[in-house]
Amino acid sequence: MINQDRLVTSFCALAAIDSPSSDEKEVADFLMEKLKRLGLTVQQDSYGNIIATDEGDSPILLSAHMDTVEPGRGIKPIVDSERIYTDGTTILGGDCKAGISIILEAIESLADEGLERRSIEIVLSREEELGLLGCKELDFSLLKAKEAIVFDGEGRVNQITSGSPTYLAFDIDIKGRAAHAGVEPEKGISAIKIAAEIIVQLQLGRLDDQTTMNIGSITGGSVRNAVPENASLSGEIRSHDEEGLDKVKSYLLNILQDTRNRYSDAVITEKFNTEFQAYKIDPQEPVVKDVIDQLIRSKMDPELILSGGGTDANVFRSNGINAVVLGVADHGAHTVREHIIISELVEAASFCRDLLAINHKI
Ligand SMILES: [Zn+2]
Repeated sequence: MINQDRLVTSFCALAAIDSPSSDEKEVADFLMEKLKRLGLTVQQDSYGNIIATDEGDSPILLSAHMDTVEPGRGIKPIVDSERIYTDGTTILGGDCKAGISIILEAIESLADEGLERRSIEIVLSREEELGLLGCKELDFSLLKAKEAIVFDGEGRVNQITSGSPTYLAFDIDIKGRAAHAGVEPEKGISAIKIAAEIIVQLQLGRLDDQTTMNIGSITGGSVRNAVPENASLSGEIRSHDEEGLDKVKSYLLNILQDTRNRYSDAVITEKFNTEFQAYKIDPQEPVVKDVIDQLIRSKMDPELILSGGGTDANVFRSNGINAVVLGVADHGAHTVREHIIISELVEAASFCRDLLAINHKI
């Protein structure tokens, strides 16, 4: 049986420890102690990700991330009969501490009852919110698992992320020529004007049902009275479809080339970086089937939902681990309206417990 009080208390204790990305040390120390008390062998890799194992055979990997977004310092969780939320000045950190507390409670409740469970490995990563940085640096040689459940999705536990896009980040730098804006503007080449011309030619937002594109920041110029010499754009393309992604990338490259042709004295350079790779889960994969079967046994309807975002599951999958992302009872993540629905948190922990129990007739 899930102990609701213990689960809520454990979540609130975690939420109250500041752990914005790159500042996870305190929460990591707290969690290492906790995992050791649960009888697991615990270590940190050189990047600071936590890896815990019971050293059994054919383990299933359970994963969540330790970091949270801002404003995420001094979080004071408020609990009422239905929800956990904040006073509106910070996020709650349910993304992803709800995931961590679900995993901990599932293990603890099985131990309480003296029930046998599947062998497990646990990964608690750092800097997920900065672009899956911790998981990208994870020492995969320390893991045996070939299947993973990543507790890092929005909503109820029956919300299974069915796929996630490839994320292509890009930066465009434009170098024009500075000149006095009033005395000899003819001698200048405005990098800001060129940047603007590039942007107006780009279709942005949702390009089709598979692909999105965004310019997220623009910087340029130095002072009011000079023709600006430099401007920079940073943006991203996301697509569930590799071909679609390539098409949008060449469309962008063509616009840059046209602009270069028109401004032969300017220098326009671009850089692309694939931050994570798309995946789509196959309902026939054993881990997906296990999840779906257990949801049905728990009287929930599995809902497969395509996501526009990435999680550590993208990195696990790129490293040969079939990972599935499930909801952690969190709503409104990355906002000060973030909250957890307690009944859903209990339901998710209960699902995790039942999935780990060797005898499913619980
Ligand atoms: Zn998350």
